[in-house]
Amino acid sequence: MADNESSGLLSASHPHYTSLTSADPHAAPSSNAGRRRTLINGIIVGVIVISSVCLVYAMWCVGFLRGASAATAPYNNGTHDFQPTVIFISLDGVVNHDLDLHLTPHLSHIADTGVRAHWMTPSFPPITFPNHWSLVTGLYPESHGIVGNYFYDSELDDHFNYKDPSHSWDEKWWGGEPIWITAVRQDKKSGVIMWPGCSTTFNDLQPTLSVPFSDAMTFDEKTDIALEWLDLPMEARPQFIGLYVPQIDQAGHKYGPYANQTLTQLQHADTSIGRLIEGLHDRNLTSIVHLIVVSDHGMSATDASRLVYIDDELTSDELGLISQVEMYPTLGIRPKVPDGATEDEVVEQLYQAFRRLWKRHGEEAAPFQVYKKPDFPARYHFNNNVRIAPLLVLPDPGWNLVRRSDFDPGRGDTVYHPKGVHGYDNLSKQSRAIFVARGPTWPEGEVLKPFWNVELYQVLARLLDIKPAHNNGTLHGRLPLE
Ligand SMILES: [Zn+2]
Repeated sequence: MADNESSGLLSASHPHYTSLTSADPHAAPSSNAGRRRTLINGIIVGVIVISSVCLVYAMWCVGFLRGASAATAPYNNGTHDFQPTVIFISLDGVVNHDLDLHLTPHLSHIADTGVRAHWMTPSFPPITFPNHWSLVTGLYPESHGIVGNYFYDSELDDHFNYKDPSHSWDEKWWGGEPIWITAVRQDKKSGVIMWPGCSTTFNDLQPTLSVPFSDAMTFDEKTDIALEWLDLPMEARPQFIGLYVPQIDQAGHKYGPYANQTLTQLQHADTSIGRLIEGLHDRNLTSIVHLIVVSDHGMSATDASRLVYIDDELTSDELGLISQVEMYPTLGIRPKVPDGATEDEVVEQLYQAFRRLWKRHGEEAAPFQVYKKPDFPARYHFNNNVRIAPLLVLPDPGWNLVRRSDFDPGRGDTVYHPKGVHGYDNLSKQSRAIFVARGPTWPEGEVLKPFWNVELYQVLARLLDIKPAHNNGTLHGRLPLE
C-alpha cells in the first residue's frame, strides 16, 4: 500500500494521528521529566499509530473494512435470509483496457461502488479452457491439466478436444476441484451456467444446478436464470453462481479486438450486467450478494504484416517430422518419430530447424522464441505435465506463425483471419484480463494491485466461507489494494 494512502486512511479515521501531527513543537515541555513523558507518550502514540496502520492495512487486505463480513451471515433482505452468496461472471476475451473506453457504464458502476483490479494476469497459455479452469480451481494449467483447448495425453494415449463434449467432459481430463464442487462437498448449493467444465462429474459430484453450453442463449436469459435461482427458497438456493459469456471473444476473433462489432458486443454485455444489477436492487440484494466480473484473457489484433512463414525456412523433410501442432498461436509441436530414432532426437532436429528460422528473422529481434519444454521460462508455470508438447514456439503479441498454404499475399490473400488472437505471453499488456467486484465485504471505489487469476479460487472460498482444496494461490484469498 502506498504511504500516502495509509496517511489518508488514518487522517480520516484515527484521532491519534491528528493529535500527533497537529502538536506544536514550540509547546513541548522543557524539563527532563517532561521530555521523558514526551518520549514515553511519543512511543505510546507511535505504537498505537503503527498498530493502527497494521490493523487498517490488514482489514483492507481482507476486504472487511466496510460493512458486514461473511462471518455475520445470514444476511436478510427484509423478507428472506441469505447465506454468503457470489455471482461470478466471465466475459470471455475482454481486454483490461476496454474498461477505460467509457463504453461500459455498468462495469464502471461496479468498480465505483466496489473494487477494480489494475489488471488481472491470466495463466499461460492465455486461452479459454485453461484459464476458465484456473479461475475456478486456483491451479496453473500445468497443475490442473487443461493445458490447451486441444491436446494429447501420452499416458492416457488420448486426445482432448473442447469441441467434443461427449469425450472431453470425462472426469479423467479435469484436475483440481472447481469452486462449485468445493461448495457442494461442504454442503452448500452451487449453480453454473455454461462455464467451461461445468458438465463434468467429480467423484460423483456435480453442481447443484447447471445449464450446459448453448450458443443460442443470450446474456439476458442467463441473468434471468441467475435471478430465478436467487428467488429459490433458502434450502434450494445456490450460494455460488458461475456464468459464462462467449460473445465478445467470438466477435474479437472475427473482427478484431478494437472493431465496432466487438465493442458493440461489449456494450450489449454491459447492458445485461445493468439488468442484473437492477434485478439485485429490486430484490434488496445489492449489499448482500457479491458480484464479480472477470475475463479469462485479453486479445491482440493480427495483421498480414505480422506473419512468420515457417515453410520459407523449414525443409519439407523437416516439416514432415511434425506430427501435430497442439496450440495456437503458440505452437506446441509433437514430433513424428521415424523407426530407429528417439523422440529426443527428432525434437532436437526440429528445434535446430526453428532456430534457423529464428536467426533468419534477426535472432533476438525475431518476433518469436523457440524452446524445448524443459527450457520454457519458469514464469510461465508451463513445464510440468506430459500434456505439454515437447517443443514450443511462442510468437510476440499480434504475430502468427503460418505456412504459405494458410495465407500467401503472393497468390492474392490480403486480410489475415482471425483478426483477433489470444494465447501470447500472459504478462503482455494485451493479454491482461479484467476484474471488477462489489459486495458486502469489499471496500468502495478502490483499486487492487495486479494479481494472477489463480488467486481467485481462494477469494471465492473466503467469500463463501468454505475450505479451499489444494491450489496454487499465494495470497490466501486476500487481494491487496494498490
Ligand atoms: Zn477465452
